[in-house]
This record gives sequence, structure tokens and C-alpha cells, in this order.
Amino acid sequence: MIKVVLFDLDDTLYNERDFVYSGFMAVAKYISEKHGLCIEEVYEKILDIFYKKGRGRIFNILCEMYSIEEDIHTLVGIYRETKPSIELYEDARYILDKLKGDYQLGIITDGKNTVQWSKIKALGIERYMDKIIVTDDHGRDYWKPSEKPYQAMLEYFGGDPKEFVYIGDNPHKDFISCKKLGMHTVRVIRELGDHMQVCLGDQYEADYNVNTLYELESIFNLL
Ligand SMILES: [Mg+2]
Repeated sequence: MIKVVLFDLDDTLYNERDFVYSGFMAVAKYISEKHGLCIEEVYEKILDIFYKKGRGRIFNILCEMYSIEEDIHTLVGIYRETKPSIELYEDARYILDKLKGDYQLGIITDGKNTVQWSKIKALGIERYMDKIIVTDDHGRDYWKPSEKPYQAMLEYFGGDPKEFVYIGDNPHKDFISCKKLGMHTVRVIRELGDHMQVCLGDQYEADYNVNTLYELESIFNLL
């Protein structure tokens, strides 16, 4: 029987693209004000580079396009420090409200720690959670797929790993360690997200796949 429900954050409980877009908008505002440019045009250029070339050198390319000198670290800092304009997915809010009280709840999330905490605050999810682990608080070797954060959850809540379930979206790193430790696993495959098309070997994939978190309760009844 499941007693502890652990979630990933990005693209599991909210749409990570919304975070990315609010960061881009903050950079567009900074650059347009400083250089007398049209904010909508700068924002569209950033999105265009993002769609065509991915995340690696967006701000470098943008500065080259406008022939402006900017410290890229400053721009990245603005991107990261923006108060994110993000909301829980509707099914995430539903399931957290439903599970709260009947189960113990937690989060294990990777990513730069200050950024992850600012997402957690913006989403207002601390009130649901009994334990939150931002792996980066403990160093790079604590990031998933390390077993360490999952072990820390086992120690914190106690009990048998079979009473735990981890819910995430990224088979590259979300499930491999918790499966080894004996936890149940559920992968959410949404319409949006970087990892939704990924299909890997059995040791990487979750025991169950769902398209929304509305399906979780019926899965818990099987476990
Ligand atoms: Mg994720």
C-alpha cells in the first residue's frame, strides 16, 4: 500500500516552458530599455533563436544580431532571477488537493537551487509537501539519477520502499535509482515537454505511464 508520494517538479507539476518564457521576457525588457529597442521584437527574436537553436547560446546570438555589447552572465542572471510567472497544471493541483492528508508528499527536483526554490515559491506548493529536496542544495553528485535524494526520502519518512511511489517525466534520470531501491514509479507523458517523446530500456522506464495525474489514484489502488 502506498503511503508516500514523491514528485518531480519541472514538466511533471507545471509546464517548464512557462518558466523559460517569463525569463526570456525579463531579458527582452532589460535589453529593449537599455538600447532603445522594441520589447516585443526582442522577445520574438529570443523565441526564434530558442526554437531554432535550443538553449545553449541564445543571448550571445541575440547580442550579435543587434550588434550590442552585453555581459552574458548578467543576462543569464536576469533570466534566472526573474520571479517566474508559472502555475500548477490543473491535474497537478487536483491531485495534490486530493492526496494531501491521506498520503505523505514530497518533491525531488534537479536544477540550479536558487531557481528551483523560486519556482517552488511561485507555485505555492510548500503547503502541500512534507519534505522537499532540491538536489543542488547538496552538491552536483546529489542530482538525479543519484540514489542519494531517494535514500534521503526513505530515511526521512521511514518504512518499506514498496510504500513509496515516484512520479516524473524524464526517463533519462527520474526512475532508474528509485526502481533499484524498490520504489514504485509512474511516468507522466504530457502533450508538452522536452522528454515526452523519449523511449528508453526497461531499467530507465517507469512501471506505469499516464497522460495526466488524474489517473494516479486508480494506479495507487493497484499497488
Ligand atoms: Mg521533470
